[in-house]
Amino acid sequence: MKEVILIKNGEIALKGLNRNVFEDILIKNIKSRLSELGEIKYSKAQSTIYIEPMTDNINISNIISRLKKVFGIAGICRTYSSVKNIDEIKKTALEYLKNELSFIKTFKIESKRSDKKFIYKSPEISRIVGEYLLNNKKDLSVDVHNPEAIINIEVRDFGSYIYAEQLKGIGGLPTGSSGKAMLMISGGIDSPVAGYMMAKRGLELCGTHFVSPPFTSEKAKLKVIDLLKKLSEFSGNIKTYIINFTEFQEAIKKHCPNELFTVIMRRYMLKIAEITASDSGCPVVVTGESLAQVASQTLPALICTESVATRPVLRPLIGLDKLEIINIAKQIDTYDISILPFEDCCTVFTPKHPKTRPTIEEILIAEEKIKSLEKSLLEKIWSSIEIININ
Ligand code: ATP
Ligand code: MG
Repeated sequence: MKEVILIKNGEIALKGLNRNVFEDILIKNIKSRLSELGEIKYSKAQSTIYIEPMTDNINISNIISRLKKVFGIAGICRTYSSVKNIDEIKKTALEYLKNELSFIKTFKIESKRSDKKFIYKSPEISRIVGEYLLNNKKDLSVDVHNPEAIINIEVRDFGSYIYAEQLKGIGGLPTGSSGKAMLMISGGIDSPVAGYMMAKRGLELCGTHFVSPPFTSEKAKLKVIDLLKKLSEFSGNIKTYIINFTEFQEAIKKHCPNELFTVIMRRYMLKIAEITASDSGCPVVVTGESLAQVASQTLPALICTESVATRPVLRPLIGLDKLEIINIAKQIDTYDISILPFEDCCTVFTPKHPKTRPTIEEILIAEEKIKSLEKSLLEKIWSSIEIININ
């Protein structure tokens, strides 16, 4: 007997002719997520990926907990595998029962024969193996209506596989299969959730984070790195740009009307994120904005921000309530980090009474005053930029 993990694809199965491309990306992502755990063999057939540890020292529970965070996986089956021979299947099923289900008193077998060359049909497999189990474990009985465990037997391309339950995968599409996106990430609750949601739809993430030293601390930056690490458990490596934004913010504060500060700052943030997006090959930007959540996210404010963009800005949280966002943050384990009380660069200069209905005309007039400084401010940003790979 050897233990083999079967991965059942999710939405990928619907991808028709492109299915192979998606499966290959999924296998590549799984390999990179499991690479530290030891020597593992991978194969695929019939919409299923087979993962087989090649040495005894590999902890299968570790593999499973990592697989539960890989997008594109619908189901995970931890199986005992044997060759396709009915006597071997019987012995392996008994071993499975004794090792993994010693506590059960009632069971039912469900068999599936996807290798049609195997001489026994599914009902015969269930009957033969069921009888063998009953003869070899006396306290056991069959209950077809309400069994304590269903023992699944699948006779497939490479062998036969026995398991009791299929664990739920996280679903979505394999990271990278939809392309790449630049996530504008703050230390708040929303943007990590926005990144998670877009990575779930197959986008590989890069990150841009703005800091304002000395007004924001090293701890605030490390908090964002911790959030990105949590995200990377789902999305893989995140190339992240840390941007020193202090002088820009000071210039906006000095030269522009106070009540327009936040929207003008957002416009510059987005402009800069478009440059990092271009540098890292991301055709779209992602933000954690949600309609009307704060003054800078009213419809007029979003329109003013959006108008500097030359590429699509994806806002996966736009229609979610804060409580719905918090629920996802808790599920992906970013919430407790997000609520740590470190300042964000956005809150540092925030005016008391931001304008909730700014117009593009008044913004353009206000920005005239800093247009002449823009080039040198941007040059300074690039000379102090920090790029880190989070994984
Ligand atoms: P979050 O909880 O993600 O901080 P928020 O509700 O606090 O969001 P804002 O502070 O208005 O909202 O920010 C709106 C969006 O702007 C964020 O979701 C994020 O995408 C981007 N953003 C805000 N601050 C930063 C920052 N310091 N660096 C990069 N992007 C930022
Ligand atoms: Mg914020």
